[in-house]
Amino acid sequence: MEWDEAQTFPKELFKEMGNLGLMGVTIPEAYGGAGLTYIDYVTVIKEVASVCGSIGLSLAAHNSLCTGHINLFGSEEQKRKYLPLLASGQWLGAWGLTEPGTGSDAGNMQCTAVRDGSGWVLNGAKCWITHGRSGDVAVVIARTGEPRAKENSTAFIVERGTAGFAGGKKENKLGMRASETAEMIFDNCRIPDSQRMGPVGDGFHQAMKVLDGGRISIAALSLGIAQGAFEASVKYAGERHQFDKPIASFQGISFKLADMATEIAAAELLTMQAANLKDRGLPMTKEAAMAKYYASEVSVRVATEAVQIFGGYGYTKDFPVEKFYRDSKLCTIGEGTSEIQKIVIAREIRKGGR
Ligand SMILES: Cc1cc2nc3c(=O)[nH]c(=O)nc-3n(C[C@H](O)[C@H](O)[C@H](O)COP(=O)(O)OP(=O)(O)OC[C@H]3O[C@@H](n4cnc5c(N)ncnc54)[C@H](O)[C@@H]3O)c2cc1C
Repeated sequence: MEWDEAQTFPKELFKEMGNLGLMGVTIPEAYGGAGLTYIDYVTVIKEVASVCGSIGLSLAAHNSLCTGHINLFGSEEQKRKYLPLLASGQWLGAWGLTEPGTGSDAGNMQCTAVRDGSGWVLNGAKCWITHGRSGDVAVVIARTGEPRAKENSTAFIVERGTAGFAGGKKENKLGMRASETAEMIFDNCRIPDSQRMGPVGDGFHQAMKVLDGGRISIAALSLGIAQGAFEASVKYAGERHQFDKPIASFQGISFKLADMATEIAAAELLTMQAANLKDRGLPMTKEAAMAKYYASEVSVRVATEAVQIFGGYGYTKDFPVEKFYRDSKLCTIGEGTSEIQKIVIAREIRKGGR
């Protein structure tokens, strides 16, 4: 709550989480990770988020976006160089796709990478980036072809301290206030070709694959926030008396708890289904989008009802539910809004006929 109030991003905490194996949960042990499954990873994010959404969000962005991208698409040399640093928590990762003018329409990005001799020169800005200022290394998707052309973007690894790369404005947010969200600015930033990940033109395709896994972690984040809000509500409803009875004994309140528990269980099953498919190497674009869409909407509904159950006390910072309420809203926006998830689900249904 103190970090949230002061908008403190507790970077040191991530080193400690690295010691616990939480910074490279699904990264193979050969690269310094914990070598666990995606189902284990969902459990980690859910448990952390049931206490603090901000730390859950930062953990998810570090694990599935930056570290996950290098693990999926990095060369052997890139994996050996960066994964041990990231998985141990010595370095914090950032991942930049979104720009000021292009969020949902990320394929229309304006940040460019232009070939220059043996390397590349990056120019432009990325915004809304988790760890945009504090990240020690960033995966950046930049345009390397014509606007709106097919296969017009490429992924690069850019280390903090590279000349021409700087963190920009830090956002003052409604929720997730202990997770840093900031701009990344590239001003004639020169990087060698060895920092390119995969073929030229493969950036958007890679980003969409990374987001498939990332969305499962946002579903887990949503679940954790919902679970935290639910548990606080059950406890409070049992303790708070009105009309000489615990408020949980009123059907109006107990039905809320029943709806919350049912929706959380359904969201958990969708999330575990998507994680299971990912663990088995099976297609899961639709299932990841369904899990993210449903779990995030459940998170907002559950956190809203939690504030209602707490009444006036829920509207204060003396109890945790107002923070769950504020944090939950990010889940329907980050890594693709609910509307975009529905577009993905509908597209996959048309492709597969289910
Ligand atoms: C706390 C936080 C952390 C983030 N971290 C990262 C990060 O680490 N890296 C990163 O790259 N990005 C990050 N993002 C960015 C995030 O992914 C974008 O905010 C998100 O994709 C939405 O983009 P936008 O904000 O530009 O909204 P817009 O795309 O402008 O959307 C505005 C509204 O229009 C709707 N809309 C847009 N297109 C359509 C359509 N075709 N049909 C129907 N409705 C539509 C949207 O659903 C939304 O309701 C973060 C955002 C936040 C808030």
